[in-house]
Amino acid sequence: MTTIHDFNFKGKKALIRVDFNVPLNDKFEVTDATRISAAKPTIVKILEDGGSCVLMSHLGRPKGVQDEFSLRHILKELEFQIGIKVNFVSDCIGPEAESAAANLKPGSVLLLENLRFYPEEEKGDEAFAEKLSKLGDIYVNDAFGTAHRAHASTTIVAKFFPNNRCFGILLAQEIKSIDKVLNNSEKPVLAVLGGAKVSSKITVIENILSKVDHLIIGGGMTFTFIKAQGGSIGDSICEDDKMDLALEILEKAKAQNVEIHLPVDVVAANSFSNTAETQVVDVTKIPDGWQGLDAGPKSLKNFDTVVNHCKTILWNGPLGVFEMSNFAKGTIALGNSIANATKNGAFSLVGGGDSVAAVKQFGFEKKVSYVSTGGGAMLESLEGRTLPGIAAILE
Ligand code: AMP
Repeated sequence: MTTIHDFNFKGKKALIRVDFNVPLNDKFEVTDATRISAAKPTIVKILEDGGSCVLMSHLGRPKGVQDEFSLRHILKELEFQIGIKVNFVSDCIGPEAESAAANLKPGSVLLLENLRFYPEEEKGDEAFAEKLSKLGDIYVNDAFGTAHRAHASTTIVAKFFPNNRCFGILLAQEIKSIDKVLNNSEKPVLAVLGGAKVSSKITVIENILSKVDHLIIGGGMTFTFIKAQGGSIGDSICEDDKMDLALEILEKAKAQNVEIHLPVDVVAANSFSNTAETQVVDVTKIPDGWQGLDAGPKSLKNFDTVVNHCKTILWNGPLGVFEMSNFAKGTIALGNSIANATKNGAFSLVGGGDSVAAVKQFGFEKKVSYVSTGGGAMLESLEGRTLPGIAAILE
């Protein structure tokens, strides 16, 4: 795997695909700078070598040129994060961008305008990619969040740098973490899959069955499995058309010696609300009019035992409706169990949008081994797919 450590950037211009698709408030201020700070190590290494950085990213989903999606809005935060003045050019290709890149001195940084102001970016247009390629000597991909897209700046541009392309520090770390869980893992290996629906996680489940020793299934997915086995789930969320699939997964797991752990009890509520009445009930005996919104205490105790028995842990998806404080206990307890296992030497990877949000919200970020920066990209990796942005560097 070629990374920026394989190059000396002295006197060179690095064209870096970063993922600065960050949330902004109504004053266009950055409200979560995680993705900006995550790109810092790559930028710093290149500047310290005596090179310069041309940064390119998308922001949001603009329809043509729309000022609200201008990357100018993140300039202040970027300067704050990397501690130096950053030049900005209000285009990402063409004469203005080319002259800004040509005038860039070693030790300086240039941020290009939003790539998605051009529809060619998402179409993976080759001519557009070639124009981008004029802006640097070495292409660096450091954007895991968009590595599953075959866009011009994430994938196609790489072909114009046949001998001068590599992974940035962040993307290399993401690849290594996933590999450490899926391929080079210390046993026993556990995956915890939560979240709302079986349908969105089914390919992940199918792919990881051959990689894990234990699988905890929690969150809204639980009830499709419980109902499929004849349990009463009251008004809990369920995908009836996925019940056969749930039974198939249970069969396959058995055949592959994977132990599946489902909740045995749940916190049930009489409406989908934080002020609803609640009771803890057996997961197979949820009364009509009640819905399971979090894992119950017995389940959490079981999960804690499994988590602390394992040496490699992957966590994707919350155990309950953690956005409501009365149904966040399961997700918090699981976070504590994983933090404890990590402290005792396990490798833990948290990935996928909502579990990352939960980990941050409840302060587990520094207590797990690695928190992925990619949602869709992470899921597709767990599904066993080779991401086009990664393949383009490796080819
Ligand atoms: P996902 O994006 O598939 O990881 O799903 C995350 C969502 O699942 C979160 O918004 C949770 O509120 C939701 N969720 C977790 N447990 C349940 C449950 N028991 N019933 C309904 N939704 C749930």
